[in-house]
Amino acid sequence: MSVDEPRSAAMEMAVEQFDAAATKLGIDPNVAARLRRPDRALIVSVPTRMDDGHVRVFTGYRVQHNDVLGPFKGGVRYHPAVTLGEVSALAMWMTWKCSLVGLPLGGAKGGITCDPSTLSRNELQSMTRRFTAEIINFIGPEVDVPAPDMGTNEQVMAWIMDTYSQHKGHAVPEIVTGKPVAIGGTLGRREATGRGVVYMTIEAAKHLQIDLTQCTAVVQGFGNVGSVAAKELAKIGIKIIGISDRTGAFVNPRGLPIDKLLEVADKNHSLEGCPYGDRISNQELLELKCDVLVPAALEMQINEVNAPRLQCRILAEGANGPTTPQADAILRGKGVFLIPDILANAGGVVVSYFEWVQDLQNFFWTEDEVNSKLRDVLVKAFHQVLEMSQKQSVDMRQAALMIGIDRVTRAMLWRGLYA
Ligand code: NAD
Repeated sequence: MSVDEPRSAAMEMAVEQFDAAATKLGIDPNVAARLRRPDRALIVSVPTRMDDGHVRVFTGYRVQHNDVLGPFKGGVRYHPAVTLGEVSALAMWMTWKCSLVGLPLGGAKGGITCDPSTLSRNELQSMTRRFTAEIINFIGPEVDVPAPDMGTNEQVMAWIMDTYSQHKGHAVPEIVTGKPVAIGGTLGRREATGRGVVYMTIEAAKHLQIDLTQCTAVVQGFGNVGSVAAKELAKIGIKIIGISDRTGAFVNPRGLPIDKLLEVADKNHSLEGCPYGDRISNQELLELKCDVLVPAALEMQINEVNAPRLQCRILAEGANGPTTPQADAILRGKGVFLIPDILANAGGVVVSYFEWVQDLQNFFWTEDEVNSKLRDVLVKAFHQVLEMSQKQSVDMRQAALMIGIDRVTRAMLWRGLYA
């Protein structure tokens, strides 16, 4: 398979978004031709011994989109819908995200097609270690640094770090970010993406002159991003009226008890059996009347079918690619204020970058330092995007992509084409 073939709905969408922003910027067509596809893509077989003794072969991917600004950086996703096309789209979005927030990093992504909720701890560990061994020549602290994404967490990062370190013969904490603090992780990384979503929502509300303490919010997905976003939104006085995960959605117009939902999720690894609120469908959840809607699960949840029925004022994209280009146009027409994924969820990669820097220096920061530096980076990026959107009369997504793509393009032109 060649690297110009990773087709999927998500990749089509990423390329469509890129083309629109690149056309508006008028970028060099030779550079555009290169940026529409990944730099490199690796597909690996991951044989894993299951608890019953048989060997199951999973398919794993690592896609590196562009490293003109610095080493590749991107999460590892464990989900049944993972494909080469999806991982390629996510890698491309990482390039624009790192560039937008000014990080000296490029874009990558990885994943394994699997349902981690059906695997035992042993199976998950064996699969993760073999995957790491299969991609070991492809990653490295100065080359490509993985991180958590959907279906993976700090434990998975610890296994990747350990496997890589065993092969090198010494501890290499800087090979991954999002690992436990005990082995070189940073304070504040686990909460960073959700926290960033909230920092961006606060900036949007200031701009729109909305008092958030009088507002309601709905959050789709209750994993790393969704649960922290919900908790932090509730902390600043927003009433969370709807929450969902892969097992179902729950609504209460008087507000859901987030701390209690966190206890349920902690115990059951999902919201299954949640006794709080009324059960509704995930589709109904997205269409609830609210001030702030945070999709924090999968791609393409908001499309041309449900976009006309959305009733939020601010759409803060915790997930990557939750809104299709068709839905973007509809939401623009309805006056919904969009905080695009590459800005709204950039907190994760910003604090991942902080973690990598701390590991390389063997010098660790306090959580307050991490959070205040994170806020500075994101708030600056928010205002750059807002200014670009006003100057160029484009929506916030296009403005964010234009800034991200422009920086990458300029770097590519400076570095030139290696013959
Ligand atoms: P996670 O695995 O921790 O949680 C995902 C959540 O989504 C779970 O609660 C799951 O039950 C729920 N979910 C799955 N399918 C669903 C469906 N059809 N309807 C409703 N809920 C569903 O993953 P995460 O790390 O929170 O990632 C969520 C999104 O945020 C992804 O798009 C990811 O790429 C993006 N993101 C994550 C990070 C990070 O630091 N983890 C950073 C940037 C972006």
